[in-house]
Amino acid sequence: MAFSGCCRDVLYGECRRNHAARMGRYAVDGCREFLAEGEEGTSGALRCAACGCHRNFHHRVVVPRCCCSDPDDAAASGRSRDCSTESTASSSTAS
Ligand SMILES: [Zn+2]
Ligand SMILES: [Zn+2]
Repeated sequence: MAFSGCCRDVLYGECRRNHAARMGRYAVDGCREFLAEGEEGTSGALRCAACGCHRNFHHRVVVPRCCCSDPDDAAASGRSRDCSTESTASSSTAS
């Protein structure tokens, strides 16, 4: 991986699930952006609230980001983001 940032955001764009695959056709549901149905860490976090598809069906966009040099973002989120991937998923007790 050639990311310059120590952290990266992963966004999920339009849904690409082919709902007409069984009929040999191609038709997506038109969902434009993944919106998690549940909280991070729950099974709902992997399901789209808008179209009901699993997150894997949505176009994945990785945004390189260095949290160490992005104080504005840290301030906006209300807390400093550390670089360990574990913390965001498991600890939601802050605040
Ligand atoms: Zn969706
Ligand atoms: Zn969908």
